[in-house]
Amino acid sequence: MCVLGPSGRMGRAVLDAALGRSDVEIAAAVDRSDAHGIGAPVAAGVVAATDIATGLAASDVYIDFTSPAGTRAVAEAAARYRRAAVIGTTGLGAADQAVLDQLARVAPIVVAGNFSLGVNLLLGLVHQAARALGPEWDAEVVETHHRAKRDAPSGTALMIAHAVAAGRGVDYDRVKRHTRDGDIGPRAPGEIGVSSIRGGDVIGEHTAYFFGGAERLEISHRATSRAIFAVGALRAATWAVGQPPGRYDMLDVLGLSRGAVSPPVGVNTSGQ
Ligand code: NAD
Repeated sequence: MCVLGPSGRMGRAVLDAALGRSDVEIAAAVDRSDAHGIGAPVAAGVVAATDIATGLAASDVYIDFTSPAGTRAVAEAAARYRRAAVIGTTGLGAADQAVLDQLARVAPIVVAGNFSLGVNLLLGLVHQAARALGPEWDAEVVETHHRAKRDAPSGTALMIAHAVAAGRGVDYDRVKRHTRDGDIGPRAPGEIGVSSIRGGDVIGEHTAYFFGGAERLEISHRATSRAIFAVGALRAATWAVGQPPGRYDMLDVLGLSRGAVSPPVGVNTSGQ
């Protein structure tokens, strides 16, 4: 496989997770020309390089945790090679998603705003809770991430908020509330709020709150190591190779039942 962004937090975690595994081989690692690790060894016989065409040609599948611009540029190149892809970059806009859809016409791609088993299970639980409790219970999603994270809300928070909307059978874009500031009046009935906290080195924490009259349900997930995303991404990569062209998510990879969630994974319309 070809790992993008070996100098980055997730690229490094993917390389670490692949170490010592007999079912995956790192064939290439590609980063931006201004990345600090260019030329440095990242795996047996592999140094971080800048030429994406060579990296794609040498591999069956690439793993992408970079930036929306990086994801778009590499997906355009990958379509020419019909290369399978695992894409975890968040903050993708509509134009980025359209490029991924083009790639999915010619290759199997797995796109997920979160590659952990726990979060993908949480999505189903949230959907179930939202359906059972209805819009009378105020739903809020709160996410916390490290200070270097660029996009907000997190891709995972958006997936959770979409799961609430799907459970209620409502259009998320009509009920979402991503910011509150100033004299905005009381909370609107049926609103789904998403709030972001940034600080320190927090890898990722998400809580879905359901506020009833005199009771409150909280469903939380806390990631304490990036290894969970990396292991999930490697599982997605080995699963993707050999699948027919198409766009898949972690529910497909994990064999979890569908119908619980149908969010636009990784979409972030609020910008960087
Ligand atoms: P980071 O800034 O530490 O690393 C990004 C890496 O991508 C850097 O090495 C950078 O040089 C490289 N890069 C940027 N543009 C590139 C390009 N055009 N070609 C090749 N390489 C390029 O960021 P991070 O913390 O590793 O996160 C990366 C992305 O992954 C973010 O969008 C983050 O939200 C997302 N993420 C997703 C999951 C998930 O489970 N889906 C989990 C963690 C992080």
